[in-house]
Formats: sequence, structure tokens, C-alpha cells
Amino acid sequence: MKAIQVKEHGGPEKMMLEEVEIPTIDSSKVLVKMGASGVNFIDTYQRSGLYPVQLPLTLGMEGAGVVEKTGSDVKNFSQGDRVAFTGIPGAYAEYISAPADRLVHIPDGVSINEGAAAMLQGMTAHFLTRSTYPLKKGDTCLIHAAAGGVGLLMVQMAKMAGAHVIGTVSTDEKAALAKAAGADDIILYTQSDFEEEVSKLTDGKGVNVAYDSVGKATFDKSINCLQARGYMVLYGNASGPVTEFNPMTLMQKGSLFLTRPTLFSHIGDRESLEQRSKDVFQWIKEKKLHLRLEHNFPLSEAQEAHQSLEGRKTTGKVLLIP
Ligand code: NDP
Repeated sequence: MKAIQVKEHGGPEKMMLEEVEIPTIDSSKVLVKMGASGVNFIDTYQRSGLYPVQLPLTLGMEGAGVVEKTGSDVKNFSQGDRVAFTGIPGAYAEYISAPADRLVHIPDGVSINEGAAAMLQGMTAHFLTRSTYPLKKGDTCLIHAAAGGVGLLMVQMAKMAGAHVIGTVSTDEKAALAKAAGADDIILYTQSDFEEEVSKLTDGKGVNVAYDSVGKATFDKSINCLQARGYMVLYGNASGPVTEFNPMTLMQKGSLFLTRPTLFSHIGDRESLEQRSKDVFQWIKEKKLHLRLEHNFPLSEAQEAHQSLEGRKTTGKVLLIP
């Protein structure tokens, strides 16, 4: 089968389309024929070496497809079932060997491409808006990169919860998309100072929570956008990691909370995985949650897909189609 492998860390050119063996399955696993693989920022961190991984590696942590074969102990899945997953390495490939307890069924009314697109970014938006800081009516939140994969989903989920949403984006086209997703106010943070704009938009009060996936370039100012006892939710490093922080700042700026959460500690047990994926799929079926699927690349063009994602050229989800 074909798979995208990384043998040494570096830029997108380090991803190679290789011919490798179809993976084997043991009694607890399922062989899935991939229909679509999700491209996520975490893949770029693993490729570059920002997040430590063992090489060589078949990249990719998310996808969806059809069950080809099941191990002898697998009870909940059968050949032909449509399934989706995240958190299983090796998704940029034609087949994946997946532990059955990490798979979920894709319900009727949700396509395979939607299944692949919903898992990592959808459940991330879910835990951030429902668990890390559970948004409620009357709250105001700041969402950076509001037209990105996670961003567009967070905007919609924040509006469902009744919050007022201030989004930041880099271009007018992205501003229009974030607005269409429900954002109340948009700041072009490449053209104006978002800290000043947030202060103006909130009459100097600040926001209850800042969801910051941009990291290095925005972190300090995001903290300055918070009201007393506000939540700084740093959940990504699109512009580079935040490496220095003095906890005293939290006191000085008004008893703030800082967290650096990851999806994988929010879907670690079967119940959480099922609950979060069920909510996300249900919202898609009910058309409360719209997935933007405008960036589909053939598996062989994984390099181009990463260049587009890292080059801020994409909006919504990026998929690789084997
Ligand atoms: P996005 O589609 O959001 O792409 C990243 C966006 O970040 C860009 O489109 C761009 O939007 C913005 N950005 C700002 N500065 C830069 C920069 N210097 N270089 C590149 N992009 C920049 O990606 P994803 O939805 O896949 O991921 C978004 C973030 O969420 C990532 O940081 C990722 O690590 C994080 N994440 C964290 C998870 C967790 O469990 N903690 C899980 C999933 C994602 P604009 O042009 O509008 O500025």
C-alpha cells in the first residue's frame, strides 16, 4: 500500500510517498481501508520534530474509512462498517490497523469525509468550549484563527452555547467565513492591535476566556484581553511555542487561570470518546454544525497540503484522499 513516511525531521519535503506492507492486525484490532485522512497542525509538529516522535513514522492521527477485517476479539465492528478515529498514528496511508476501542461508528447521514474531518478538530472544539471553559450565555470569548479548522468549529459551538464571540483572522476572506460561522466581531490581527480592539469591543472589561492556538505571537496580548479571574486557554503553537512564563503574572493581572490542554486527555476513556464524538456527529446531522471541506488533496500531495496549512492558505478542514 501507499503511505506517507517521515524518516528524518524537517520541512514538508521530508514527507515521502512510500510503498509499504499493509499493516497486520492482532485479535483486538481492526483493519480499516482509509477513505480520507485528516491533516492537522499536530502532524506538522511531529514532522518538524517540535513534538517528539520515533522515526521512521507514517504520519497522520485522524481519518475515516471502511472496516476490511476484524481481529477475533472484536465484537462491536464488522466488515463494511463505516468508522472514524483520531489519536492513532499512521493515518496518511491506504490502510490502518486500529485498536477497536479507539474507533467509532460514523452514523447515517454523515459522510466518510465528514467523519474524518470531525474527529480531531471537532472534539477539540467540543472539549475547549464544553469542558476547559464551559461557555454559557452572557460570556464573551476571544477565538484566535477563527477561520481555521478548529476555529470555525469553535465559533459555531460557542454561539450554540450562547456566548458572544470575538474572532481574529488574517484576511478579509477569512473574516467573511468566520462571520458566516456566527462570530459577532472580527479583528484582522495582522492589521490592527487585537488587544486594543478587544478592549474597545468590551468597553474595557475584557473577555471571560481567550482560546489561543497561535501561541508565541499572540500569548502575551491574549492574557491582557482577560477580565479578572478570566481563563487563558493556550491550546496550540501555530506561530511557535510559548516557552517562558512567570506564574506571578496570573496574580498581577487579576487572579487569572492558565491551562495548556490537549484533546488526548479528554478522550482517553471510551465513555468520553463516545460522548464527544456522538455530540459532534449529532450536531452535523442536525445541521447545527457545518464542516468546511474545501481543501482535499490526493495522498501523494501531502507535501502541498502541509505547505498550505502552515502557509495560512487554508480555511476549515484539510483532507488527504488515498
Ligand atoms: P488551522 O486551520 O487553524 O491553521 C492554523 C491557523 O493559525 C492559520 O490558518 C492562521 O490563521 C493561524 N496562524 C497564525 N499565525 C500563524 C503562523 N505564524 N503560521 C501558521 N499559521 C498561523 O489549524 P488546525 O485547526 O489544524 O489547528 C489550529 C491550532 O489548534 C494549532 O495550533 C493546533 O496545534 C491546535 N490544536 C490543538 C489541539 C489540542 O488538543 N490542544 C487539537 C487540535 C488542534 P490566520 O491566517 O487567520 O491567522
